[in-house]
Amino acid sequence: MKLLLRSLYLGVALASGVHALAQGDPATLDRIVDQGKNHSQVMRILHDLTVGIGPRLTSSPRLAKAEQWASDQFRKFGCTNVHLEKWGDTPVGWDRGPLQMARMVEPFDSPMVFTVPAWTDGTKGVVRARVVRAPTTMEELEKVKPQLKGAWVLFPGAASARRGADTAGTVPLDVAQAIDASGIAGRIYGSRNELVVTSGTWANKTYENHPGTLRVTVRKSDYDRLDRNLEFGRNVVVEIGAESHWYKGPVPQYNVVAEIKGTEKPDEVVIVSGHLDSWNGPGSQGALDNGVGSSTALEAARILCAAHAKPKRTIRFILWTGEEEGLYGSRAYVQQHAAELDKISAVLVDDGGTNYQGGYEILEQMKPMMEAAIAKSQAAFPDMPQKLEVVKGPRMPRGGGSDHAPFNSVGVPGFFTIETGRSDYGYVHHTQHDRYEMAIPEYLVQSATNHALVSYNLACADTLLPREPKPEPAPTDGG
Ligand SMILES: [Zn+2]
Repeated sequence: MKLLLRSLYLGVALASGVHALAQGDPATLDRIVDQGKNHSQVMRILHDLTVGIGPRLTSSPRLAKAEQWASDQFRKFGCTNVHLEKWGDTPVGWDRGPLQMARMVEPFDSPMVFTVPAWTDGTKGVVRARVVRAPTTMEELEKVKPQLKGAWVLFPGAASARRGADTAGTVPLDVAQAIDASGIAGRIYGSRNELVVTSGTWANKTYENHPGTLRVTVRKSDYDRLDRNLEFGRNVVVEIGAESHWYKGPVPQYNVVAEIKGTEKPDEVVIVSGHLDSWNGPGSQGALDNGVGSSTALEAARILCAAHAKPKRTIRFILWTGEEEGLYGSRAYVQQHAAELDKISAVLVDDGGTNYQGGYEILEQMKPMMEAAIAKSQAAFPDMPQKLEVVKGPRMPRGGGSDHAPFNSVGVPGFFTIETGRSDYGYVHHTQHDRYEMAIPEYLVQSATNHALVSYNLACADTLLPREPKPEPAPTDGG
């Protein structure tokens, strides 16, 4: 019986692949290409978001502002059913203030590039103090104790900022705790290279209670300069100003949702998405992670509305939040919409930086329909070829670290677009370089237009995208 069901399912899947080729109306597809290529607003949208509003940490007032702004944009473009959908609360709100500076001032002046984990206390104003190397034993600590009070303490190794844990290895935990208890200004760590990576957690923090010593991470060359001058026996003094603000919780958190309603099957859906939240380390504007994905989703909505696209299925635009801390927005969406998952044809996620949308990882049975879905885009952007990578079935790849993952985990086809092009995402991802000027305009023009073309085609196809077979129900034990 089981075998029979399985082969029946496979037969349906293959058959639907064959018959699913009808795509969008050709005149509409032409208008989409014209809007996307010749009237693009994607860089204006990205600029409004990343320079106008700035980085958008989940729980921060700037993210809330961005949600309102994005909703207004969707409405202005002509989308319907624009709303914020709550996914949960954070226990406390947090953001950085405008004062963000770090420099060595003795023995000579040298600016430093730095970050501080989110959801930790910063400094009150600029704190100017001498730098002392961290003692590594209790005896050493007793010797240098008078110098520790009020000092910036240089720690070896890397700050384990994500979990707020103590440095592993060279400074034993009890010594590290005794250093903190000596009334120091904070710890200074060096990063592995010239990138400073920002992370953090709201776990166990409240408005009233957020203990812990400030951990500043400076880039490697700055750390080495401090260390070298201490080695030479010089008096080393730094100034650090890291303004932070706490906001009383619980703070409700939302995804932004907007639609172009389907004309024939409005309850069947193609989702176009990116995440609106970002890290917010000093310098970062949350541009490539994932201002660009938010902007290509917004611009796809504008293009489709301006092209008067009338998809048969609903195209739903979603800007996720809480992505960086653990896919909170998309995971909650999958739970809250459990009853509708069978009617979601595909979930497109653009969260790999500023390169162009170079294709998709697919299952074999999706191939005919996906080839048809990307054909117009391939013709419109011949310099930016796409590929369909057929993965070994029967299931879509699991994991992947972005908002497509919760959908794949329940069998809804989720696609993290294959990012192709010259941008080096590793240089930007979660670092001080995540800024508007790193975006590559022609790639974003393609990404937004491709989003619009592919979602419109899928929304007009004869069937939903063939998906992986449903897991067989667990055998019930009659006992
Ligand atoms: Zn991201």
